[in-house]
Amino acid sequence: MSMDVSALKGIGPKKAARLEKMHISTVEDLLYLFPRDYQDRRSTTAVADLHAAAAAMIHVVIRRVDRPFSYRRGKKNILRLRVEDASGSLEIIYFNAAYLGSRFHAGERMYFYGSPKMTKGRMQMIQPAFSEDMAQEGILPVYPLTAGIGEGEMRRIQRQAQQYISTMEDPLPETLRQEHGLVPLREALSWIHFPPDSERLKKAKARFIYDELLTLQLGVQMMRRQTGRGQAMKASAEPFIRHMRFPLTGAQQRVIDEILSDMAQKKAMSRLVQGDVGSGKTAVAEAALFAAVKSGRQGALMVPSELLAKQHFANLAADYAHFGIRVGLLTGSMPAAEKQRQLAALQAGETDIIIGTHALLQPDVVFDRLGLVVTDEQHRFGVTQRKTLAEKGDTPDILVMTATPIPRTLAVVLYGDMDISVIDELPPGRKPILTKAVTEKARDKVYRFVGEEVAAGRQAYVVAPLVADSEVMEAKSAKGLYRELQQRFGSSVRVGLVHGEMRQEEKDAAMQAFAEGRCDVLVATVVIEVGIHVANASVMVIENSEHFGAAQLHQLRGRVGRGAAQSYCILLCGKNAGETARSRARIMTESSDGFYIAEQDLALRGPGEIFGERQHGLPDQKLISLLRRTDLMADCRKMAEDILQEDPGLQAHPLLRRRVERVFGADVRMII
Ligand code: ADP
Ligand code: MG
Repeated sequence: MSMDVSALKGIGPKKAARLEKMHISTVEDLLYLFPRDYQDRRSTTAVADLHAAAAAMIHVVIRRVDRPFSYRRGKKNILRLRVEDASGSLEIIYFNAAYLGSRFHAGERMYFYGSPKMTKGRMQMIQPAFSEDMAQEGILPVYPLTAGIGEGEMRRIQRQAQQYISTMEDPLPETLRQEHGLVPLREALSWIHFPPDSERLKKAKARFIYDELLTLQLGVQMMRRQTGRGQAMKASAEPFIRHMRFPLTGAQQRVIDEILSDMAQKKAMSRLVQGDVGSGKTAVAEAALFAAVKSGRQGALMVPSELLAKQHFANLAADYAHFGIRVGLLTGSMPAAEKQRQLAALQAGETDIIIGTHALLQPDVVFDRLGLVVTDEQHRFGVTQRKTLAEKGDTPDILVMTATPIPRTLAVVLYGDMDISVIDELPPGRKPILTKAVTEKARDKVYRFVGEEVAAGRQAYVVAPLVADSEVMEAKSAKGLYRELQQRFGSSVRVGLVHGEMRQEEKDAAMQAFAEGRCDVLVATVVIEVGIHVANASVMVIENSEHFGAAQLHQLRGRVGRGAAQSYCILLCGKNAGETARSRARIMTESSDGFYIAEQDLALRGPGEIFGERQHGLPDQKLISLLRRTDLMADCRKMAEDILQEDPGLQAHPLLRRRVERVFGADVRMII
């Protein structure tokens, strides 16, 4: 129902414009503007039982009214009331409230609702709501507000919107709704705004959380590849594996087997490979791409950065040279002529495997016979980007690889029905990285240690949260540290710099110098986080580590420990680091297991950062709170399956379809 808000009484063009700022233009939008909080005005609390910060309603007698006076002329007008009940007394304060002066009289009984605060050992309530008959108001909604529409007014508007609830249609099929014990939409819409009691408020909330989770589930499940299409790619990867420089780990071998058995089926593969940093995902991808090419198809490997694309290109070209497999490279910064040549070779089928960045998603990238799409470090890509690449082939097999460990409960939501393989073993001979969390006081010692490692012939990364010093954020910057370290070390240490604001060639040159050992200490921002491999680097110093999430810290740490030498990761925590950041640093020192870290971090602060960038159109905050509801997830997934089983394109469920499109973009199409 899309009736305009201006249909409501009291909403003229001016108010409509203010609501528009909150993205509310229809009555339906209004009904879906849920309260951010509630005030329980059903029962009173005795003054003596008030707790600081816990909102409560009191019923008291006004003992004294101190008329407003100005302290510092023209500044604040303060109205003070002394109130009491049988249990004790309390001060109530209103600022800038000269107009309230005549509203209160000693001896009157009044209700107040607010959050008490302890000031100099005395309990106060600042600017509480008040009325003589508040107890009849029940549970009141508190809405997110916009300039020009106050709390009381928003409540009035919402009360009016309630009369249109009867025109809202429930997107859930009646039988499924009952089967899953959910309340009808209309009741939920009434109770979420004006809850008759806490029980029904809870039911209304559960219904809407369920609706959101269902939308996510439908979306990811609709994106999954359907059965019965695609091609069977039956070639073996054995010749490639035999020719490798090292024997595969058991985990690599198992995951390759899982992948190849998927590829051999006619049904299109849709598989997620999780493997900790350094677990050897590249070799797994290479084996799969090899099998695709030997089955007569082309393969694509998409990565999130140019640096990584080039690194993969160099490795794959070398590893495949023996087999005559032709590897191409496509990046955004490539000269136009070179790009044209790559595109032409790809389309003509002269390239067997193309490696590239987001540039692969461009419409001018056309394949001859695309059979396998691999996305590396997939958390950097959104769902729709993966889909765009897949649509360049005729339902190709899909493999996504991530080092960002995602607890299984969440993976199920984000990846719908993708099958999951885990590389849970590191190649032999890796020494665990020693991790230490220290404060700024230890900085001198830390860099003395870096100097010693360099003197012993090894290299170090130093990572900072900022590119350049900032006035708004108190943290180290890469540029600042670059100068600082040059000064500190003098000519004995060659210091390099790489950050996101440098031109591509500059970045490449700096990385190249480090990789070739022409630079000892590389000062960097998180641009080095992904995939880079320099075996001689043995120290990772992370400045202001409190500014990084656990997934990032884990990725950064994974840049060292790739050679024979003992490696170290040092987290330099700033002095303003909060409790969460300190706990996170502690988790890092306790474990090198990405999954454990992710689980702990999830418990600490929710899944937000685990996803890196946004996966869906939903605001992160919303996604986080939704994904916390692991209790509802399995049930919801089942409902989505049941609905899609009957109606794969949601043709018969237009309301559900509309919701899915709103979150996943209007182009959610079935790939049937
Ligand atoms: P990631 O999973 O982080 O992408 P890589 O594929 O980059 O890891 O592998 C990290 C390093 O380990 C590379 O130098 C790679 O050659 C090496 N490697 C991978 N598999 C093995 C193995 N089975 N035995 C020895 N070294 C391996
Ligand atoms: Mg990798």
